[in-house]
Amino acid sequence: MQLEAMYQEVILDHYRNPRNKGLREPYGGEAHHVNPTCGDEVTLRVRLDGEGQDARVADVSYDAMGCSISQASASVMSELIIGSSVKEAMAVGDEFLALMQSRGQSEPDEDVLEDAVAFAGVSRYPARIKCALLAWMAWKDATARALGEAS
Ligand code: ZN
Repeated sequence: MQLEAMYQEVILDHYRNPRNKGLREPYGGEAHHVNPTCGDEVTLRVRLDGEGQDARVADVSYDAMGCSISQASASVMSELIIGSSVKEAMAVGDEFLALMQSRGQSEPDEDVLEDAVAFAGVSRYPARIKCALLAWMAWKDATARALGEAS
């Protein structure tokens, strides 16, 4: 199977069978983000265990509507970061952001990004980059709120 087709398959799988979808309690921070250019919306909750950058991402849950890319991205992200520390999750987010800004030129690091490498092709379509980044932005916001409450 061609790489592009395989990536398509991963995105469709997460879109059809979203992981961690549905808002859960308890949570420490929540954020609602909208991508007006595409009409995507996500409400995302984060529960942290501990304080500061070393806190563990104990749970991420969300409710999302919109295009397949935005919804699949939220699902992939939740799988990637639940269980890691805030610091580690931020690093993965930075790696994903770099991939999205690469205009199809970067070789994604599959060890770091796992299923998120499937979005590599999205970086060639500027209009869709915000779709892929929406959940990550919401996560950063919700995490900042959760950390604020914890301190
Ligand atoms: Zn979209």
